[in-house]
Amino acid sequence: MAQLSEDVFAFGESLMSVDEALAVMAERVRPTAGVETLPLAQADGRVLAEDLRAAVALPLFDNSAVDGYAARSVDLLAEGPTLLPLSGRIAAGQPAPDAPMAGCAVRVLTGAPAPPEADIIFMQEDVTVADGCVSLPGGLKLGANLRRAGEDVSAGAVALPAGRRLRPQDLALAAAVGAPRLSVRRPLRVGLFSTGNELREPGEPLSAAQIYDSNRTLLGGLLRRMGVEVCDLGRLRDDPASLRSALAEAAGRYDLLVTSGGVSVGDEDHVRAAIAAVGSLVFWRLAIKPGRPVAMGVIGGTPLIGLPGNPVAVFITSAYVLRPLIAQLRGEILEPLASFPMRVGFAYKKKKGRREFVRASLRRDAGGGFTAIKHPQEGAAILTSLTETAGLIELAEDQLSVEPGETSPFIPYALLW
Ligand code: AMP
Ligand code: MG
Repeated sequence: MAQLSEDVFAFGESLMSVDEALAVMAERVRPTAGVETLPLAQADGRVLAEDLRAAVALPLFDNSAVDGYAARSVDLLAEGPTLLPLSGRIAAGQPAPDAPMAGCAVRVLTGAPAPPEADIIFMQEDVTVADGCVSLPGGLKLGANLRRAGEDVSAGAVALPAGRRLRPQDLALAAAVGAPRLSVRRPLRVGLFSTGNELREPGEPLSAAQIYDSNRTLLGGLLRRMGVEVCDLGRLRDDPASLRSALAEAAGRYDLLVTSGGVSVGDEDHVRAAIAAVGSLVFWRLAIKPGRPVAMGVIGGTPLIGLPGNPVAVFITSAYVLRPLIAQLRGEILEPLASFPMRVGFAYKKKKGRREFVRASLRRDAGGGFTAIKHPQEGAAILTSLTETAGLIELAEDQLSVEPGETSPFIPYALLW
């Protein structure tokens, strides 16, 4: 059997921090996905392949933010109100008339072009109209209720940067600057395996010592939420030869291979050795809990991530390792994961040197705030600790404990996926 690659020994047997692992991935992995042009309605969730520059300014012309009356500030008395005769009316979709407006106010409706000379617009709720005149109150600031041409996006500016994973609001901006189609990366194709002799499919009868495979369902769902095409490649047995041939055969046919199980230090954990035998192993032990055994390798140019077997470890390493790897592969700019300072309602001790995540639900306090409540079961195999909680309390690498009443970062699951 081939030796593990030198990279592994470069890090010795010590744990690599998650940040180091992300840096190594960023070095090793280049965006793979090709590019296609799609109409806006089909581009939701895709990654923008090149900057979108605005063909037109947004808005294209000065216009009214309210239903009201446009005036020139030079016609207003320093101490209001000012009575001005009304001349004309402009609705949305009508061009502003060229006629000079000196000494007059013009009726304007929301979205209507502002008369070129107007520099202030009064809301109709703030004025009184009688006998063809409008009484305008004092005290309004220059430019009030006027939406200036280009105030949202100026013509030619980058409206959306390459690498943005498109959301409906991004697509709306593309539409607003007149782009009917966008150049996006094609979806990544991810091949997904489970490993373990004990695994059966839900629906099959179980004999003693067998369990149902839940990781493929979990990972399939998480990956689909990340917007990739998931190809379910089934279960692999804990057998070195068949692992080697299955991984070698799948490499090259997908943008990324994902496995779960078989990467730890047990006698039947053969995934690492299989990666090293048919490709190269980049790292395999991370300072993250739950989730320590995570392997990353490259087989024939195809990256592979070997996630742990325990479902909670799969969930957490999917968020903190798999998600950034997928971003790398599709040239996506990932915003840092937002967390919220949360009052902690429990005591917890941890080892120094690894980032830990505690599954927690939120209890509403009498004062209107929230307190994070730890799930009673901490095991990495406890699936209900994921279904019965709302998110993760994150404890930093150098932290040793947390006490009730302290504040810690909380990451809601809803922000992860
Ligand atoms: P391993 O790292 O392969 O030793 O797996 C660690 C634990 O996760 C073991 O208890 C396995 O039975 C369990 N496990 C591994 N793969 C799966 C899976 N696909 N679904 C559910 N549990 C799994
Ligand atoms: Mg196993």
